[in-house]
Amino acid sequence: MTADFKRTIPEDIYFDGKMHIVWKNGDHTIYDYWELRTACPCAECIDEFTNERILDPNSVSKDIDVHASAYIGNYGLEIQWSDGHAHGIFTFKDLRDVYPHETRTLN
Ligand SMILES: [Zn+2]
Repeated sequence: MTADFKRTIPEDIYFDGKMHIVWKNGDHTIYDYWELRTACPCAECIDEFTNERILDPNSVSKDIDVHASAYIGNYGLEIQWSDGHAHGIFTFKDLRDVYPHETRTLN
């Protein structure tokens, strides 16, 4: 397994008011719920043809919370939000490289 491969495989995911992912290479990334919810990649939030964002970020409560999450195959995570929205799949690759986050590198 190359180091680059380990970079996009989660070792642990937990929620404590923010979403935390600890990756197999030891990195730890932290996501704000509101920033993640408003970046949802599903067809209700992004126009599939033009890639334009349909979702108005102002329509999402700042108190947005996570109710549940589930692995989708080995490539992503589906999140059930407190506003009932549950169709977006956040791929691990995009969680590393696209969605806003803080990174804590342990070593
Ligand atoms: Zn969505």
